[in-house]
Order: sequence, then C-alpha cells, then structure tokens
Amino acid sequence: MIHAQDIIEIIREPFLVLDSALCVVSANPAFYRVFQATKKNTVGKLVYELGNQQWNIPKLKKLLEEILPKKKVTKDFKVVHNFPSIGEKAMLLHARQIDNVQLILLAIEDVTEAHLLAASGLQNKLFFQALIENSTEAIALVNAQGRVLYCSPSTESVMGFSQEEFIKLPNPFELVPPDDRKLVTKLFQEILKKPGISTQVVYRIRHKNTKLVWIESIMTNLMKDPSVMAVVINYRDVTERKYHERQKEEFIGIASHELKTPVTSIKGYVQVLQKRMKTEGNAKAVIFLKKMDAQLDKLTRLIGDLLDSNKIEGGRLIFDEGEYDFNALVADIVDEMQQTTSTHKLITQLGPTKKVTGDRDRIGQVITNLLSNAIKYSLLSTEIIISSTADKKTVTLSVADFGKGIAAEQQRYIFDRFYRSSGENHHTFGGLGLGLYISAEIIWRHGGKIWVESEENKGSTVRFSVPIKKIARKQSDCTSHDHEKIKGTHE
Ligand code: ADP
Repeated sequence: MIHAQDIIEIIREPFLVLDSALCVVSANPAFYRVFQATKKNTVGKLVYELGNQQWNIPKLKKLLEEILPKKKVTKDFKVVHNFPSIGEKAMLLHARQIDNVQLILLAIEDVTEAHLLAASGLQNKLFFQALIENSTEAIALVNAQGRVLYCSPSTESVMGFSQEEFIKLPNPFELVPPDDRKLVTKLFQEILKKPGISTQVVYRIRHKNTKLVWIESIMTNLMKDPSVMAVVINYRDVTERKYHERQKEEFIGIASHELKTPVTSIKGYVQVLQKRMKTEGNAKAVIFLKKMDAQLDKLTRLIGDLLDSNKIEGGRLIFDEGEYDFNALVADIVDEMQQTTSTHKLITQLGPTKKVTGDRDRIGQVITNLLSNAIKYSLLSTEIIISSTADKKTVTLSVADFGKGIAAEQQRYIFDRFYRSSGENHHTFGGLGLGLYISAEIIWRHGGKIWVESEENKGSTVRFSVPIKKIARKQSDCTSHDHEKIKGTHE
C-alpha cells in the first residue's frame, strides 16, 4: 500500500498536509528547505504559528478559512509575504480540501523570481518614462515614413512646437533647411536599416519662431524586431555652443593671419642676410641663418595648418583642380623631405603611375604630412618606405615607418582635430594634432580614403587612396561623425 507521506516526499514544490484544525500533519523536504524549517517546529503546529508566527498571513487565513471551505479547490492563489528569516517570497498556493479524511493539501509554488522581474520591469518603465519626460533634450520616435509617433514635452522648449503640433507635422525633417536636409534624411534611412546602431549629426532646424537653431541630434535604432521600423531621435539645442565655437574659430583665423605676415617678412630678411653673409664669407653666420630659415619654415607650416583647419571648420577649404602625374608628385615630395632629414633614409617603391585629377598641391601636402609624421615618430629607426600602387580606378600611397606605433585604441582618433596621442613622450614630439585631420579632409574631399595600420613599438603604415578621376565631395555646413572618411572605422 502506498503511504501519502511517500508521495509528498518526492514532490519538488513545498507541500503541507493540514488537518481540519489547520495544524500541520506532515510537510515535505522541499518545504523544510525553502522555508528553512525543521520537522520538530513544523509538524503538529497550527499553520499560522509556523516559524515563530511567520505564517500568520491574512491572505492565507482568508484562503483556508473562507474560500476553501466553500470551493474545496483553489488554484493559483497568489500571496506575497515578507518572511523575517528568508525575505520576501511570492507564492502561488494550490489547495484542496478532502472532506472524507478531513485533510487539506496545500502546495506552495515559489514564484518569487518571476514576481521580482515583473516588478522591476514595471519600475524600469516608470524610470525611463520619467527620464524621457524630464529630459531637457527633445526626444521623438519617428517611423519609417517619417511620421512622429511620440515626442517628449521638451520638444516645445527646443523647437517651439508643442507635442501635438510636432506630432502633426508631415515629417520632422521638413524643419531642416534644404542644404542640411539631404544628409539628415540619408542618415535616417541608413539608421532605419541597422538595428542597434546610432549616429550623431549636427544641423540646423527652423524653430517655430522662424529663427534657425543648431541642433545636435542622435538617431538611434532600438528596434529588435526588424518588422517594426522606427528611430528614436534626440534633439539638443547647441546654438550657443556653436556661437562660441564660431568665435573661437574667428580668433584662430585672425591670430594665424596676423602671425603669417611678420613671419613671411622675417623669412625675407633672413634670406637677404644669408646671401650677404655668403658674399662676405661669414660661414658661421650662414649656418645659423640656415637653421633660422628651417625653423621659420616649421613655423610657417604650423600657421598654415591652423589656417587650413580653420577653413575646414568654416567650410572654406577650396581646391585648385588639375591633372598631375601621381608618382612624379610622390618623388618630388620625397626628394624635398630627404633634404630636411639626415637621420632617415626615404626609400621609394613606386608601382605604375597614373595621371590623376585633383589638387596637386593639396595631395602633396598630405604626402608631406605623412612623411614628416613617419620621421617624427620613429626616432630610433632609420628607414621609411614609401610605396605606391594603382588599379584602373584608384591610386594608393603607403608610408611605412618602424617607430613607436599607435596603440590600437588610439588609432581611430588620430584623424580627429587637435588629437595627439597621450603616450609617455607626448611632449617630446612637437605638433598641434592637425596634420592628419587636414589630410583626412583633403583626401575625403577628393573622394578617397585614408587609414592606418599600426602596432605599438613596431611601426605604423598610413595609407591613402584617391580616385584617378576625382569624385568631388562638397563640404556641408552640417557635420555627421567623420568616421566614414576613414577606412576601417565603420560600425
Ligand atoms: P601631430 O603630429 O601634430 O601631433 P597629426 O595629426 O599629424 O598631429 O597626428 C596625430 C597623432 O597621431 C600624433 O600626435 C601621433 O600621436 C599620432 N601619429 C601620427 N602619425 C604617426 C606615426 N607615423 N607613428 C606614430 N604615431 C603617429
């Protein structure tokens, strides 16, 4: 014959058998384990007195004394109770009253985990709602057709439109002036196709008061389900920041322009003096003046970089287009640079040459830049290898050094404006952190790409490729993250 006790022993959920007076007749091991009880302080005790009255739960009382006598069977009766010894537990009680033997079977399903998850989910939702509604940035959810599905209250302070007005717009991109609209809608379309990706872009928007305001906007595709196409757009008013940036740019522009004139005139005098000292046979003075001239060249280059970066920021970098022989240009620049260094041997390995359309001087400036970096950042080695290759559509130039290299985590930043790696010898190497920024802009505007391959303490190879027939890219006033200009940093 099967004993009831044998059956409840093997049940995995906590289980109690109560008599008609609600005293425990027996409990299974799962009950003792989950509720940290012993047989001694359980069997024979009134159910409410278990664990020092911990089970004195009003809802349990209601179940056992009011509901069960009437219904005989109850299922999924949820009780959440804070037990002093084991903390909060959420339980589903399943009870059955068996009248002929005057017993109550009580199975206790522990659903604490699911309960906590549901509760925290709820809290998360409230948290995010508060975050969105109290944010000073405007936040909107826009579907694939460009309809605004939701926008936060700050829409009004950022763009002047109330939530209702903004939602009624046929398309929020209508507020973007035509110059910027093309880039913004293109980015939006791209983001729509890539769940989990976000992009940042700065552009202008026409405020309800008809003034243009600068907006820094982050578009994020949060959708996990590809059939739901929508993008979250954050709008932050950065008009004031743009104004200060513009003031700073104007200052850099004026300062570098003012510096340029005296430096040019000093250089003129130095050259005159050099000639005079030569005819007078003053060899020492000639050496000093030569050194002075070289330092003035350095200064001129720094001022030139400042002016160029200023022009890039203001959308004023213009190109003088023509046709030139690529390898001849490389050879010219290499010769010129070889004159300025006695520490390094510049070795060329040039492939077939091509006639390339573009701005010869500006591409030359890029090559000069790469060579001077290769020399500057490889103090302990003596060789630099310059190689070119060409195919039907593009020419590629590589400048390889065997110097300090660039740490992997810094590589994606070296083309940023004013970026200088923060190595130990940071101050040993002079520079403004503009060379690669200007180079990347020049190459990008020529329809090309620039990228780096490097290993710390082994060396770096910086490469660029440009189309033979220039694909002119127009500089736009609004800016998206510039990483598309640099190969190897695509998301
Ligand atoms: P600058 O040389 O004036 O600092 P660049 O824009 O030319 O500015 O370069 C940015 C940074 O990239 C440099 O500060 C340097 O840390 C790193 N870098 C560039 N070229 C090399 C190279 N060939 N080897 C090692 N580091 C380099």
